[in-house]
Amino acid sequence: MASNESTAFAVNEQSSHACDAIIIGAGFSGLYQLHKLRDELGLDVVVLEKGDGIGGTWFWNRYPGARCDSESYYYCYSFNKEIEQEWSWSERYPEHPEIRKYLNFVADKLDLKRDIRLNTEVTSAAFDDDANLWTVQTKNGQFFSAPFLITAVGCLSTANVPDIKGLASFKGQWYHTGLWPHEGVDFSGKRVGQIGTGSTGIQTAPVIAEQAKHLTVFQRTANYSIPARNGPVTADDIKHTRDNYDEIWRLARAGTNGHPFTISTRSALSVSNAERQEIYEKAWERGGLRFRASFSDVLQNVEANLTASDFLRDKIKTVVKNPAIAEMLTPRDHGFATKRPPIDSGYFETFNRDNVLLVDLKAEPIVEVTANGIRTTKQDYALDIIVFATGFDALTGPLVNLNISGSQGIKLKDAWAAGPRTYLGLQSPKFPNLFTITGPGSPSVLCNMPIAIEQHVDWITNCIRDMRANGQKRIEANTDSTEKWVAHVNEAADATLLPMASSSWYLGANVPGKPRVFMPYAGGLARYTSICDDVAQSGYRGFALS
Ligand code: NAP
Repeated sequence: MASNESTAFAVNEQSSHACDAIIIGAGFSGLYQLHKLRDELGLDVVVLEKGDGIGGTWFWNRYPGARCDSESYYYCYSFNKEIEQEWSWSERYPEHPEIRKYLNFVADKLDLKRDIRLNTEVTSAAFDDDANLWTVQTKNGQFFSAPFLITAVGCLSTANVPDIKGLASFKGQWYHTGLWPHEGVDFSGKRVGQIGTGSTGIQTAPVIAEQAKHLTVFQRTANYSIPARNGPVTADDIKHTRDNYDEIWRLARAGTNGHPFTISTRSALSVSNAERQEIYEKAWERGGLRFRASFSDVLQNVEANLTASDFLRDKIKTVVKNPAIAEMLTPRDHGFATKRPPIDSGYFETFNRDNVLLVDLKAEPIVEVTANGIRTTKQDYALDIIVFATGFDALTGPLVNLNISGSQGIKLKDAWAAGPRTYLGLQSPKFPNLFTITGPGSPSVLCNMPIAIEQHVDWITNCIRDMRANGQKRIEANTDSTEKWVAHVNEAADATLLPMASSSWYLGANVPGKPRVFMPYAGGLARYTSICDDVAQSGYRGFALS
C-alpha cells in the first residue's frame, strides 16, 4: 500500500485555498449542499465545477429532445417555500434549458454563485490522516483543502462511448448525447446514425428524425416505452400545485421512488383480465412513469410483470405500421421496468416515417466504423453524423474518475475494484470525512432525484453539525456495517425483479469489464430514510467517530 507521503500533495501554500468543506459539482446536489452548509451551519464552503455553468447533468445533456422524465411540478426542490411559490414550469416535462433556468434562478435567489468556481475540474483528492484534511487538486493547478469533502457529481455523468474499431477514421462528426455541443448540431440534409435505444435514444430519435434527411437507428436491445403525454402547464395546474405542495412533498417522501403518487395496493393478478386491461389503458392514456404504479407487484412478481409487459408489447403493434419493424421493436428479453423504463414523445411513431430505418444489431452486429459510416456483419450504412446514445458508466464512474486516495493512501478505484462498497451509500471505509450524495447503495437513480438528493444533503448536514457540536473531527464507515449494508442492498434488489435484466446499467452490465453488482438501493426511499434517521439518532451507529 502506498504511504501517506506518496499520495499527500506537496501543497504550495499560496495556491491553496483552505475552507471547511469542499463540494464537487454544481448540479441539484451541489447547490443545495452549499446552501445548507454555508447558510445554515455558517461554514466556509467552496463548490468546484468542471463546466462553465451550473446545472450538472442538465449542463451537459443538451441533446435534441432532452427533457425530464419526472413531472416538472415535483422535479424541483422542496426545501424553500419562496422558490416553490415563485417558480412556474411551462411544460409537464421540462426541456433541458428550462431546468438550467430553474437552477440558475435558485442559485441567484440564494446567492450561491459567489462560492462556485466554474471551469474547475478536480483531477485528484487525497486525505491526510494526521491532519484529518482532504486536499483536492484541480486541472488548472489549484489546491483546495478542507476537513470535509462532499461529492455531488451525479450518477449518470460519465459518458460511455463504446470502443468500436475504426471510429477515429470516420470522416463525419460523432457526438455522445451526454456531452452535447452547446451550439447544437445541424442535422439538416444529413444522414444520421444513432446507436442506443435507452431513455436518451428514445427521447432523441423522434427529434433527429424530424430534422435530418435520414436517420438509421442501430438497436441492440428493444425497449418498452410509455407515452409521456407532454403538454403545457396551465395557470390552474400551477395554482393547484402551489396550494397543495405540502401534501405533494409528504407523498413524495413517503413512497418508494420519491414521486408524489402512491403505488396501487392491488396485485395485477387479483383482478379480471378486463379490469386489468382497463387499468392499464387508463395509465397508458395518462402517460409517464406512473404506469409502473398501476399494480402493487409489477416489479415483484414475474406473472404480474408479464401482464404489464404484454400490454406494452401489444401497444407497439398498434402504433408501428410495418409488422416486421414492430416485432423488431418489441422487447422479449426482459420484463417491463426491470430496466429503467423510458417515456417518449412519438418514439414508436418515428418508425412509420419514410426517412427512418431500424437496424437490429442482434441480427447484424457492428463490425466497425468506416470513413463513411457504420459497417455491420450484413452491410455498410453511409452516414454523415453518428450519435452515441450509449449511456453512462453509472454511479461509480463519476466517483472513481475523481482519483480519490483515502486513509493511508488507499485508492477508491482499488477499494471498489469488485464493485462499490458503501455504508448507506453515504460513505466508504478508509475514506473518512468523504460523503457521497446519491452514491451507490442509496436509492438515487431509482428515485425522483431532487427528493433523494434533499434527503442525503439534509443527513450529511446534520451529521457535520453534530460532529462540530461534539468536537469530533473524523467520521468513517466501519467495514462491518458496510459489509452488512452491501448485503442488505443485494437483498433489497433480490426482493424485486430488477436484477433480472442482465444488460441493465443498474448492474454495471453496459460497461465492458465493469463488475456486475446491483448498485442502487431498491428498498424504497421511505424505508431508506428511516434507516438513515435511525442511524443518526443512535449516535451514528456503524460509523467510527473521533
Ligand atoms: P442506457 O439506458 O444505458 O441506454 C444505452 C443504450 O445504448 C442501450 O440501448 C444500449 O443497448 C445501447 N448500447 C450501449 N453500448 C452499445 C454498443 N456498444 N453497441 C450498441 N448499442 C449499445 O443509457 P441512456 O439512454 O443514456 O439512459 C441512462 C439513464 O439516464 C436512464 O436510464 C435514466 O435513468 C437517465 N435518463 C433520464 C432522462 C430523463 O429523466 N430526462 C433522460 C435520459 C436518460 P443495451 O440495452 O443492449 O445495453
